[in-house]
Amino acid sequence: MHNVVIIGSGCAGLTAAIYAARANLEPLVIDGYEPGGQLTLTTLVENYPGFPEGVLGPELVENMRKQAQKFGAQFKAGAVNEADLARRPFKIVAGKETFEARALIIAAGASARLLGLENERKLIGHGVSTCATCDGYFFRGKEIAVAGGGDSAMEESTFLTRYASRVYVIHRRREFRASKIMVERARKNEKIELVTPYVVEEIQDGGQGAVQALKLRNTESKEVRTLPVEGLFVAIGHEPNTKVFRGQLDMDANGYLIPRNGANTSIPGVFIAGDVQDHRYRQAVTAAGSGCMAALEAEKFLEEHKDR
Ligand code: NAP
Repeated sequence: MHNVVIIGSGCAGLTAAIYAARANLEPLVIDGYEPGGQLTLTTLVENYPGFPEGVLGPELVENMRKQAQKFGAQFKAGAVNEADLARRPFKIVAGKETFEARALIIAAGASARLLGLENERKLIGHGVSTCATCDGYFFRGKEIAVAGGGDSAMEESTFLTRYASRVYVIHRRREFRASKIMVERARKNEKIELVTPYVVEEIQDGGQGAVQALKLRNTESKEVRTLPVEGLFVAIGHEPNTKVFRGQLDMDANGYLIPRNGANTSIPGVFIAGDVQDHRYRQAVTAAGSGCMAALEAEKFLEEHKDR
């Protein structure tokens, strides 16, 4: 039986682990599909407070992990495939192991959808990015592309014109899923060119290990063209990792958990933090902040329910 089980080892889960461990709760962290979370998919993080020279995403998250371990947090590799929140202790199944928890912190994150192209994962941090706020700055004066036709693609392409000399928005249909106002804003921006109806078929690096061009295919005429760009921002949505909680916790239409009064949920003893409950800010620092909130709530809850 564990006092606190934390699901997810990104910024939110690790911050929760640091706080819970320092409160002597000996938390158990279940790593999840992507140990370290979204930060492991970035390179230099320049907006995390306290690092005037920036810090590498993987290094930042590794330091948080060490910090949590130093205070007694335990870690388990693997992803949660079942959760029973009907009664306490909560039962969490990861692989073949079942864990019992007096309090639970869900910080399972949201995974950026990728296009599924051959080079895509390999080139993350080398021209391919899933986060304009994180990486836009590295494309000053460069020509780049954004894949997607939703609000994120519009918002990110508009944001990226602060840095890039030209931003091509590549979308598979002529109509955009994004709201009219966001599409209009992008259309009016002289640095943005909307390229439809096209899909990215190949990311070319010319054997150099960095994005050099994209092979695009017109989804109607099947015409193929090459677009020389140094960056590709994939903005085709995120998938919150909440499947196992369906029917047990309140979720919005996209599967994001809905917090109640801070980090609380409809189930006493279950707390939520990070991107699993936030599709708006999605920053390392906001995730860390919410992880802290969840741990403080868990600590208070356990103090009030000492008997069980
Ligand atoms: P989204 O609305 O689901 O849009 C995803 C876009 O990516 C769609 O245009 C979709 O094309 C395209 N796409 C999906 N899979 C693809 C694939 N495999 N290949 C090529 N294209 C693909 O996701 P989102 O833009 O991240 O927005 C998520 C939610 O957050 C939405 O509710 C949105 O309104 C909200 N949001 C709001 C704001 C804001 O108001 N400021 C900003 C960002 C996000 P199809 O259209 O053809 O399906």
